[in-house]
Amino acid sequence: MNNDIYLDGNATTAVLPAALRAAVQAMEHDYGNPSSTHGTGLKARAVLDGARARACRVLGAGTGRVLFNSGATEGIQTAVLSALCAVRARRAAGEPAGTLLVYGATEHKAVPESLAHWNTLLGLNLELVALPVGADGRHDLAALRRLAPAAAFVCTMAANNETGVISDLAGIAAALEGSPALWMVDCVQALGKLPLELAATRIDYAPFSGHKLYAPKGTGMLYVRAGAPFTPLMKGGGQETGWRSGTENMAGIAALGAVLGALEAGGTFRSHAEQCVFRDRLAAALRAALPGIVFNAPFDGALPTTLNFSVPGLSSKELLDVFDAAAMRVSAGSACSAAKAQPSYVLDAMGLPEWRSSSAVRLSFGPLMDEASVAEACARIARCGEALRRCGLLGEPAATRPHGLLQLTAAGAHTWLVLDAASATCAVIDPQPALAERIDTLLHAHGYHVAARLSTHDGASWPATGDSLRLGGQCLRRVVAGPDSLCYLLGPDSEPPRHAFIGNLEPARLAGMVLPGVVLANLLLCPATEAQSTFGTRLHACADAAPSADMHLDAHALATLLRSDPRTLLVDVRETYEHAAALPWRGPQGTSIPLNRLAGELPAWLAQAEPVPLVFYCRSGNRSARAVECLRSLGYANAWHLHGGVAMAMDDFR
Ligand code: PLP
Repeated sequence: MNNDIYLDGNATTAVLPAALRAAVQAMEHDYGNPSSTHGTGLKARAVLDGARARACRVLGAGTGRVLFNSGATEGIQTAVLSALCAVRARRAAGEPAGTLLVYGATEHKAVPESLAHWNTLLGLNLELVALPVGADGRHDLAALRRLAPAAAFVCTMAANNETGVISDLAGIAAALEGSPALWMVDCVQALGKLPLELAATRIDYAPFSGHKLYAPKGTGMLYVRAGAPFTPLMKGGGQETGWRSGTENMAGIAALGAVLGALEAGGTFRSHAEQCVFRDRLAAALRAALPGIVFNAPFDGALPTTLNFSVPGLSSKELLDVFDAAAMRVSAGSACSAAKAQPSYVLDAMGLPEWRSSSAVRLSFGPLMDEASVAEACARIARCGEALRRCGLLGEPAATRPHGLLQLTAAGAHTWLVLDAASATCAVIDPQPALAERIDTLLHAHGYHVAARLSTHDGASWPATGDSLRLGGQCLRRVVAGPDSLCYLLGPDSEPPRHAFIGNLEPARLAGMVLPGVVLANLLLCPATEAQSTFGTRLHACADAAPSADMHLDAHALATLLRSDPRTLLVDVRETYEHAAALPWRGPQGTSIPLNRLAGELPAWLAQAEPVPLVFYCRSGNRSARAVECLRSLGYANAWHLHGGVAMAMDDFR
């Protein structure tokens, strides 16, 4: 059963059932080549012609042309190549052609990248100019008026993919009056959401991608105004009357045709007014769940299907992770930049403060959205807000205080926090300036008082008389390991220490030391840097234990293991707020031990006479793989992880 609430419609959409049926029909029955003159070919030709006729009506193409292609990126290439070849020809003929390639500062990267590429390839040496936008995301029309007389080609979008901001196309057209410029409008996000009457405008080229509106990926269209210059991107068999060679993607075109048919007939997609109601409900749920939330584009003048927001104190990764745990799929900024935690160039161009631009989250839905999904999305937003709040991430004190050992890492260096929940006191070992704010926020959220800030280089901060410091039932002992090197040993009162914070000390140096009451081989060595160890190591750890293929379990293998050994412990290594927001599944619930708490648990696991099978899991399988690699390197053979993470495997348990 799929529990997903998919709120990333601006990245792509599912395929409309009618489109799926049309594609299957085209592959199974009407599979002819539309260029063939026999009956099978003629049937395919009818599908192609029918889809094109619908496209022309839906886009208001008038006497202009609509070509089918692989999507907007191809459409953009074709438009850019056509425009630039025309500029070259005009220039050669001594006609006014302009010298500037003007593109909106918030365009999809496909636009400036293509302009730069073809400008270089054709050796035109035109100047690329980013047209600024205002704080509302709309183009600066005064700037455009100044650029227009020298503009050779102008590229703007109908609606922005990150913010939903709708461009003032009439205003742009007015600013271009009298300019020799050709004009491309990227209409990818407009299809099905904004009325289009392309032939009634001076727009020369308008690219579209089918997969943004419930057609399959790899399908698209390019509108070309009647009389606009055109140069084919692909030459060959002369399909599309020579404008785009290559045998047509008939399954894709049939599917896109079905979507266009649904658009034309009405009744399938939600109206603008209904979309606005959905947006208002989602926005209200977000405001209630995430205090301080700011929306990054005004709702007026933006597509109601896109909500772009930032929350003070929360990174986009934290928000994405918590939403993903609740099986709600949203994206950071735009999908293309989701893998990198970089500020959004779109929000930067709008002049938003850096924190908003780098922590932005985009929630977008398609016009097929329904009541039940909106209601479920609102419930899950509340669930995520509650999970964040209970974990102290929304400015209120956390519901429960973490206890034990906590590891924070920045730029490859570790800071270790020893926490005693009962007395609300803690010690911080090797605090790094880069983590100061995070540590303060964390301790504040949980009401912790710092009893000691300790360094493994300098004993000046040792607050205790004698060589031991008590934190509730835990005891920290200081050991001088060299002229400027200190170790701290941690363990429960009256038991041998279990952890040693060794700073940069070589473990071998420790081996030579005589420490009364300490079983060196049992100590978990917690170093100062990741280069020494990621989570902690032991004197005789097999540091270069190669990750083995048998550490991966799929859902089936996990089920088998759970049946064969009921002691098996499932360990969720995601953050506490992700665990709290996660939807329950059938079968055993996991214990929450985020990766930064792993070192605290290791000594107890390693001390078991009969190690229980441990299965780590996380969102994608990355964090859990690191946990199992650590366990295996410490000699714990009974450890595995869920390959592919919750995303791949847990559906089988729902
Ligand atoms: N233009 C806009 C506004 C888009 O949102 C996208 C896709 O995100 C594209 C162009 C590129 O579309 P495709 O990757 O389907 O070619």
